[in-house]
Parts: sequence; C-alpha cells; structure tokens
Amino acid sequence: MSDNVAFDIVIVGGATVGSLLACSLAQQDLRIALIEPHYPAQVLDDAPTELRVSAISPYSQEALENIGAWHLLPENRISPYEFMHVWDGTGDGKIHFSAADMGIPCLGHIIENTLVQSALHQRVKSFNNINVFSTSLNSYTVDEDEVSVLLDNDVTLSAKLIIGADGVRSKVRELAGIDLRVNPYFQKGLVAVVETDLPHQDTAWQRFLPTGPLAFLPLANGTCSIVWTLPSDQADYYLKMSEEDFNRRLTEALGNKLGSVRVKSQRAAFPLSGRQAESIVQKRVALVGDAAHTIHPLAGQGVNLGIKDALGLVSVLTDVVPQALGDYDVLRRYERSRRGENLLTEKTMEGFKLLFGNTFSPIQILRNTGLNMVDQLDPVKHSLMRHAMGL
Ligand SMILES: Cc1cc2nc3c(=O)[nH]c(=O)nc-3n(C[C@H](O)[C@H](O)[C@H](O)COP(=O)(O)OP(=O)(O)OC[C@H]3O[C@@H](n4cnc5c(N)ncnc54)[C@H](O)[C@@H]3O)c2cc1C
Repeated sequence: MSDNVAFDIVIVGGATVGSLLACSLAQQDLRIALIEPHYPAQVLDDAPTELRVSAISPYSQEALENIGAWHLLPENRISPYEFMHVWDGTGDGKIHFSAADMGIPCLGHIIENTLVQSALHQRVKSFNNINVFSTSLNSYTVDEDEVSVLLDNDVTLSAKLIIGADGVRSKVRELAGIDLRVNPYFQKGLVAVVETDLPHQDTAWQRFLPTGPLAFLPLANGTCSIVWTLPSDQADYYLKMSEEDFNRRLTEALGNKLGSVRVKSQRAAFPLSGRQAESIVQKRVALVGDAAHTIHPLAGQGVNLGIKDALGLVSVLTDVVPQALGDYDVLRRYERSRRGENLLTEKTMEGFKLLFGNTFSPIQILRNTGLNMVDQLDPVKHSLMRHAMGL
C-alpha cells in the first residue's frame, strides 16, 4: 500500500462497534479504512471460554444478522437465555422475566466478545471496499476539505470523516480535544468462568448486594460467566484469594441459588466508571461506542448502546454525498439522535446502583416492595424488558 491513500471514511478501532460500523457502511458505495492493531481476531475451536462476554440484545443480533455476521458465530458457543431473575440480597424483593411470557424465543444471547469480533472480521474481509490497516492511529489533522491521518507504520491516509471507535482511551477523542466527564464508581467488575452444582436453567441471574450487583450469565457449555461488582480494594483482594476461599465467598454472595460454585478460569477485574464525552461530533470527527460513553455493566448494555450508535451514524450518513460526509450539520444529526438515549441509560444505571447500594432500612423496604409490585405487573415488566432488549 503506497503513502497518502484516499478514502471516504477512516474508522479507528475495529472491535465490535468499529467492525460492525465498517461492514454497515461498506454496504453503501464508500471507500473505508479500518485501523485496528488486533486484526484479525481469531478463536480456536477448542479455546477455553474467554473471560469477557456480553449479553447481546435482540436489536444487536438483528444488526449482526443484517451484515451477515450472526450465522458465522459457532452455535455451540452462543447461549440464548430465556429467563432473567433479579433479586435483592437484603430482602425478599425479586423480579422474574420470561421470554415465553413475552411471546419471544429468548431475551438475548451471552457470547464471548472475541467470538463476535472474529465473526465481524470475517465479514470485514469479504468487502473489497474496506481496507484494514493492522496498526494504530498515530495522529490526525482536520482542515477545510479533509482529514489527514498518520498511522503508526508511517502510512498516511486522507478522508472526509474520521470515526473514533477506539474504546475508553480513545485517541481520536483526545486529539479532537473533546473533554470526558468521568464519574468514578470506585468499583471493579470481577469476571471469571464458574461451574455450579445446579444447572443455570438458561437464566441470567443477578443478585443486588450492598457492595454491588453479582451476575451469573449462562454459557452454552453449562458453566456461567460471572460479573461481580465490588469496591475496588475488595475486588483486588478477591483476585488474590485462594480458590477455595473465593468459591466459598461467591457461593454465599449468590445466596446458594445455584448450589456450590467453583471457579474454572483465571480471575480478572476491570475498573468501572461512567463516562460521557462532552460532545460526540466535531467537523469531520465522530465518536461511537466506548469512545463516546461507558456505563455501569449491571444491565449489560455497553456494547448494545455502541451498536445503536453505529447504526444511528449509518442512517445519518446514508445518501449523503461523499463530499459532505464530514459536515458538521450532518454529524450533528447523529449527535442529536443518540445523546438522549446514551445519557438516559447512564443515569438509569447510576440510579440502580445508588438505590441498591443503599442500606438505609426504609429504602430497603420500599425497594423490595417496589420490586415485588413490578413483578406482578406484566405490562410494566414487559416494557422494561423491551427497552433493555433495544426493541
Ligand atoms: C466487566 C464488564 C462487563 C461488561 N458486560 C457487558 C455486557 O454484558 N453487555 C454489554 O453490552 N456490554 C458489556 N460491557 C461493556 C462492553 O464490553 C463495551 O461497551 C464494549 O466492548 C465496547 O466496544 P467498543 O467496540 O466501543 O470498544 P472496545 O471493545 O474497547 O474496542 C476498541 C478497539 O479500538 C482499538 N484501538 C484503541 N486505540 C487504538 C488506536 N490508537 N488505533 C487503532 N485502534 C485502536 C483497540 O485495539 C480495540 O480493538 C461490559 C464491560 C465490563 C467492563
């Protein structure tokens, strides 16, 4: 590839959101550069279950189907879940969601992140109007007519628009000088794969504890992927704890719901913060996914929101002449279409976190009563679930 290659759009970051965006844009007649140092993602058939998994909503499933990536996911490693059971660890409040009650086959699928990326990368390869550069963004400058992009391998590209799909520490966002509003939760999400005495029953289990929620997500091979939100120092302590002690604490934390629990993988913990970029567009620059926002993982919505960003941007760019792709007015339409939902989801997650972290007994009683009331009200319950499913 020679220097100074011209494209319509440069996408920086080719994990789930960036790759899905590239495939969706490639369905239009656009020349796309995708910059991703970890391309292509590959998972061996017999590779152990990855620690990072996501609950992929039906909305995101449809997006993956529309670009031909869904059927590339190995059936024996994707886990549809039919039920979700949420309960309060300090009382008798509970809420149970059932796909059958809503007349749908499942509420979503639990899938390893790398499997989704690998399926997307296979699709990326099939588009001859996507050029992948397996390197990192170094810098870029924006002028009246175009954006000039320098890659770490010294290749320079030009385009009408640069899109940052480069995650939490987005360089696209940093170089644009866009501030990030950060709300540190002082918590970490501890993740691991575990085996349970009782079967997971195709159910996503979530127990709210004063220290944070504990989720058991059902995997296709009968094990569960856990996301255990804990104060940061406690998470660090639990990472180092012997397996025996960890298993005992984890079994207790889930209230013995699935019998004894045994960890079957390494343990890892990710610091959690709510983040919102002050703006998600500038002239010739747009942000999507974690580059634009991160939220608490308690409702498993992060990547699903990112996919909605990607499709929101595609719909705004559809039918725009290539010269106008980076116009501020065009990009503002994307920003207006996404800001409301992204902020609302962030605030809702923070509200849940505060509500369930509260040990003041009147709040506990109200919370438990409220959960049980909602559990009895199918229309309210179904509407909550439809929202979470992106429908
Ligand atoms: C513990 C935990 C559990 C979670 N569970 C869920 C869940 O159940 N459901 C859900 O929807 N979400 C979940 N999330 C959130 C979800 O993982 C993220 O929202 C999602 O992975 C973000 O995807 P992305 O493509 O925007 O960014 P990323 O996955 O962060 O990808 C960014 C990409 O950009 C590339 N990149 C970075 N810098 C550069 C550069 N300079 N040049 C080129 N490329 C670059 C990186 O290599 C990377 O591939 C969870 C998060 C955590 C922490």
